Amino acid sequence: MAHLPTPPFDRAADWVGQHLGHLVCDPGTPAEPARRGGQRAADSALASLDIAGYAKRRSQVHPAPSRGATVLSPYIRYGLISLAEATAAVADAPAADRRKFVDELWWQEYARHLYARVGTRNAAPLRREPAVAATPWPEPLRDDMVCMRETRDELERTGWLVNQTRMWLASHWSVRAGNDWRDGEEWMFRHLLDGSRAANRYGWQWSVGAMAAEAYGFSRWQVDKRAQAWCGSCPLAENCPIEDWPTATPGGAVDDALLRSGPDLAGPEAAEIAGIPEQVWLTAESLGERDPALAAWPHTPAVFVFDEPLLHQLRLSTKRLVFLTETLAEIAEQREVRILLGDPVAELAGVALASTFAPVPGYERRVAKLNVVAAYPYPWARRPSGGDVRSHSAWIRNSPSRR
Ligand SMILES: Cc1cc2nc3c(=O)[nH]c(=O)nc-3n(C[C@H](O)[C@H](O)[C@H](O)COP(=O)(O)OP(=O)(O)OC[C@H]3O[C@@H](n4cnc5c(N)ncnc54)[C@H](O)[C@@H]3O)c2cc1C
Repeated sequence: MAHLPTPPFDRAADWVGQHLGHLVCDPGTPAEPARRGGQRAADSALASLDIAGYAKRRSQVHPAPSRGATVLSPYIRYGLISLAEATAAVADAPAADRRKFVDELWWQEYARHLYARVGTRNAAPLRREPAVAATPWPEPLRDDMVCMRETRDELERTGWLVNQTRMWLASHWSVRAGNDWRDGEEWMFRHLLDGSRAANRYGWQWSVGAMAAEAYGFSRWQVDKRAQAWCGSCPLAENCPIEDWPTATPGGAVDDALLRSGPDLAGPEAAEIAGIPEQVWLTAESLGERDPALAAWPHTPAVFVFDEPLLHQLRLSTKRLVFLTETLAEIAEQREVRILLGDPVAELAGVALASTFAPVPGYERRVAKLNVVAAYPYPWARRPSGGDVRSHSAWIRNSPSRR
């Protein structure tokens, strides 16, 4: 076990290189994240949020100033901004933009519900086998295709992409080029600042036709519409290899009984207090200043464990660990934070903990072996109820009023 020193916010990248450099996929690569970590940056992004034009421009790709996407996702992913807070922040926005934005927040909640149902099983097809490419490509992310090069580079450089280009990459990688979607998902997960198994696996499953009747097709048509200048500067413009839609055979149906109904990892409905905690255990789902466990015990030291065996396997990118480190550095400005490197179950054994539930299988496995004396509910926008999660539309039909 290693007890790591408190990271200084402005030296987070050096700190990551020094203490976590052996665990990243890109050692020595400077971090150029699309967003800085920490509650201050999250709150300032929320305070300056302006979604006028969002409905029309959310899927715009290039040039960057034409984009309408909010880039709130890294803050939402780690619990720095709740879906309720994001919804409240757009109360006065134009109706069409507000409606579209709130719809997208509910896609996030849906992905969380789906994951709370299927957990690690969603590495396997959930409703259909993925579509099979007609003529697989040996080299999908070619440098001479400007659309693929720019998109890949943005992901690897900044850790963020608009929804549109995430779909392009997922479709191109699998539906046209015939690669295993799980390898693509893993690569994207490593780089995304907002990478979550819930939303990333769902996004890939949807794109490759494992959650829908058909796969999502990517061709020049979308690039012309959303990033026209790229086609203009592309050496392949006169001989575009994606001029036509990909032809892929849809996969066969798989047993989706578990999606129709089943138990969900929903966590406690109300706080369950059985003792006085010695430390507040922070997880990747609960890094916000207003996290229920953190807020309930303002004078108790917090603890975060960089899960060394898991990180060794995942090989996350430097920029993603810098984002997390900046977030922890900021919490450490307010209270004592113990930062450990090792296996959370071993590191936290015997410590009386306060913790906010995280609806992910890894949390459930670990918490069963730990001494959580003060457990707090996950801030669901809507608590899972064991109902139909086969599709967003089936699931949303059972949702109470959302606006
Ligand atoms: C292949 C693929 C992989 C993806 N991987 C992730 C991921 O790992 N983590 C992640 O948070 N999102 C993921 N998404 C969903 C979506 O692309 C991102 O949430 C969105 O692009 C983030 O940018 P934004 O904050 O500007 O979104 P905005 O358009 O401003 O939307 C506001 C918020 O709504 C939520 N949201 C928007 N679209 C979606 C969606 N389709 N599914 C779920 N939530 C959504 C996000 O929390 C987002 O921050 C993925 C989508 C695809 C197609």
